[in-house]
Amino acid sequence: MADAPLTLKDLAKIDIATIKGVGDKRRDALAEVGVETVLDLLTTYPRRYVDRTNEAHIGDLVEGVETLVLVKVRNVRRVPLRTRRSMVTAMVGDATGSISLTFFNQPWRERQLKTDAEIAVFGKPERFRGKLQMVNPVVDIIGDKTGRIVPIYPQSEKANLSTWEIANWVRNALDRAAHRTIGDPLPAEIRERLSLIDRHSALNTIHFPDSIVDKERARERLAFDELLRVQLVLVGRKRAFERDNTGIRHDMTGEMQRRFIGALPFPLTGAQRRVIDEVNDDLAKPAPMHRLLQGDVGSGKTVVAVAAMLVAVQGGHQGALMAPTEVLAEQHYAGIQRLLADLKVPDDGNLFGERQLRVELLTGRITGERRRELLADLARGAVDIAIGTHALIQEGVEFASLGAVVIDEQHRFGVEQRAALRGKGAGERHTTPDVLVMTATPIPRTAAMTVYGDLEVSVLDELPPGRTPIDTIAVTAPLEIENMWSDVRRAIADGQQAYVVCPMIEESDKLEVAAAEEIHESLRKGELAKSKVGLLHGRMSSQEKDDVMTKFRARKFDVLVSTTVIEVGVDVPNATCMVILDADRFGIAQLHQLRGRVGRGSIASRCWLVRKNSNVGVERVEALVKSTDGFYLAEVDLELRGEGTLMSTAQKGASDLKLASLRRDETLIKAAREAAFEIIDADPTLKRHRDLAGEVNLLLAREEKEFLTKD
Ligand code: ADP
Ligand code: MG
Repeated sequence: MADAPLTLKDLAKIDIATIKGVGDKRRDALAEVGVETVLDLLTTYPRRYVDRTNEAHIGDLVEGVETLVLVKVRNVRRVPLRTRRSMVTAMVGDATGSISLTFFNQPWRERQLKTDAEIAVFGKPERFRGKLQMVNPVVDIIGDKTGRIVPIYPQSEKANLSTWEIANWVRNALDRAAHRTIGDPLPAEIRERLSLIDRHSALNTIHFPDSIVDKERARERLAFDELLRVQLVLVGRKRAFERDNTGIRHDMTGEMQRRFIGALPFPLTGAQRRVIDEVNDDLAKPAPMHRLLQGDVGSGKTVVAVAAMLVAVQGGHQGALMAPTEVLAEQHYAGIQRLLADLKVPDDGNLFGERQLRVELLTGRITGERRRELLADLARGAVDIAIGTHALIQEGVEFASLGAVVIDEQHRFGVEQRAALRGKGAGERHTTPDVLVMTATPIPRTAAMTVYGDLEVSVLDELPPGRTPIDTIAVTAPLEIENMWSDVRRAIADGQQAYVVCPMIEESDKLEVAAAEEIHESLRKGELAKSKVGLLHGRMSSQEKDDVMTKFRARKFDVLVSTTVIEVGVDVPNATCMVILDADRFGIAQLHQLRGRVGRGSIASRCWLVRKNSNVGVERVEALVKSTDGFYLAEVDLELRGEGTLMSTAQKGASDLKLASLRRDETLIKAAREAAFEIIDADPTLKRHRDLAGEVNLLLAREEKEFLTKD
């Protein structure tokens, strides 16, 4: 059918060279920015619009207020500097006045900005020698445009593409698609219910809107499509997993979980109770659980994990907990053993009808005869709960009947490892164990729905009562730094301990270690000369690292100088001080994780964030000073960094979210997720929604390609 409306798949098959004005040279330039097909072109959206009926004039500029003005270039010159930096200045103006623009290290501006060119300038006016100027503003060359609202496309200096060229090509592509129209794959009732405009109008309007309101409606529709595609993938994966795997329908009538909770020396928090209920509901169902538990440092995730594993043990199955490092596995082992010290397991083969619960540790360090015994006991079901590292998923480790798996600190494990542990499931019966993934890196709800959309999500959003909050202090001036060290010395004199975290050096492990060694030396000889100072870094063997940690725990060191290897999970309640050097080099999430190493005991803890006197990282450090709430900090982080980083680490739809924002589009995200469930549950393989299926495949193909071309 030649005249059927065009699908995105159709558009993805049309080479960009068929567009008027795109010859070989332009084609190469476009390829350089990732535009190879008409679909790529049509989804290259304007990054801004200039509303000519409502534009600001030079005369209206206010110091410190970011503004966009349309101006003409009066003159451009390059200013020689004695340093290696370059400087180009341009005078620009309109009928109401003129302003000077200054560009540092952008020598090409001298060529780009031709006298009399019409440009859009976006920046923050600052006062310099009594006059307003803008430093390094965003500049778009718009040429001679007559439309009321002018789209401004992302341009590429390198590829030498201008916004008006792109606008013309887009116009050409849309004109040629006009008679067939661009089809709408969204079921009409969903579209109407959500009051979304149709896709053909949306694509036309996003490029050439008549008003900013129209443009917003178009963006909403196209953003919804982006989110729906991602959700169709995730929800499809989730439903397929549920369909293809038989879980264990755990018996919830047993006593063990209740006895365990009753014997705890504290009442559960409301959040713990809620999450344990959510987990129990999953455990009772025949489909295997696949749930993510997000909970800030100290929110009490371990209790939830143990409660889940006990349900499995009660029914004659086993539980396993996998931690990312040996130190953490050992810590969990010690802690969980303590929690379970008096718990009995029902046992028919025993005179008393019950026996002591058995918890064992399995790491790479357990070898030889001990290991052989342990593996045999695991395989015959004599071990109830196994706690360990990757060693748990190695070849040769077999469980008699693995019923519940907990994976701690999710970001260190990949999807494959989750699957491997799941695969250790109750062998002959071919059932899949229930899986609970725990992470202490909170991400906002909307992001979780997108990044972990194939998992159910539970949140521990409440800390147990009685914690003494950590006092966080930003320090910059030499005097403040001196005071900080004397506070640390005083805490040590009172019998407390301190961490000193060294600057992160991303480019080189070696440099990072060298820096840590240097800081260790200088503190030992200087500020902390009277204390015992230990050193921990990533180039030590895990044996060496453990020795250092063990000594620190045993108070053989007062101070531990460390690289970020202490980031995850280490628990020394007597450590009440943390100094983070060059805090501006760390991300919010990392600072929050690091800070979580203190404040674990009853004594009030402090965290000093040492920052260079510059503008770098101010907002991040301030956010930490202001709040210890991981979810709040995650929101700030998303706000400051945008979704790019988050999405790319998760490798899901990284490039497909061009218009949708995980920060602002909460309503759309929820609507898209609901729509995806509705569509998939009625039509699991998308047989009746062939166009949607085609789009999902396009998305997956692109992800595959990105994944393969990565490093
Ligand atoms: P997380 O793993 O989430 O960082 P943990 O499970 O290690 O936190 O718990 C941190 C500390 O809080 C532990 O010492 C634990 O015994 C304690 N704890 C857990 N739940 C509660 C509660 N409801 N009330 C008081 N203390 C609790
Ligand atoms: Mg923990």
